[in-house]
Amino acid sequence: MKTPICTFDAKTGILCSKCDAKLTSGQLNQAAVYSSIKLAKLAEKDQEISKFTLIGSHKVDDDYILFLRTSDIITIRSNPSIAKKFEGEFNANIWFVEAEGTDRRFMENLFYPQRILNMNLIWLPDGNKLTRVIVSQGSANRSNFPIDVEKIRKVARAVKNIDLIVEFETQSN
Ligand SMILES: [Zn+2]
Repeated sequence: MKTPICTFDAKTGILCSKCDAKLTSGQLNQAAVYSSIKLAKLAEKDQEISKFTLIGSHKVDDDYILFLRTSDIITIRSNPSIAKKFEGEFNANIWFVEAEGTDRRFMENLFYPQRILNMNLIWLPDGNKLTRVIVSQGSANRSNFPIDVEKIRKVARAVKNIDLIVEFETQSN
């Protein structure tokens, strides 16, 4: 397990002077510290989670957005019980995103398992820009995953400073 704070700090829940200075200077945020401690708890009980690398974390409302390595995200997607364990430990909604990803990948992670068909920038006359994503309505079995578009817009704005317009497209296949 790797986290933005020392492994020892994550296990004990107490920051060393070095990590404490990072928190004070803003190099680290409170969500990253909290998530590191939670991850350490999960890692104790789960072999797969013990291999995870947490890069960073954000809190938006009561939800946590965890930035992990791509290989960790693949592990989570292939084993939904891991996501459940996180939600249980954090007692919150968790959004898993790839730390190495592009903005598009970030959106794909947020909308997962819905697919993004297109993503493009729209420049407004005042110089501001909006990001438009076109999301596949998907097949019937995917509609088991209702997506909270308002929450995704909030997360995109808080974490990546992206102003999002979301459109849905039904694919005929
Ligand atoms: Zn430390």
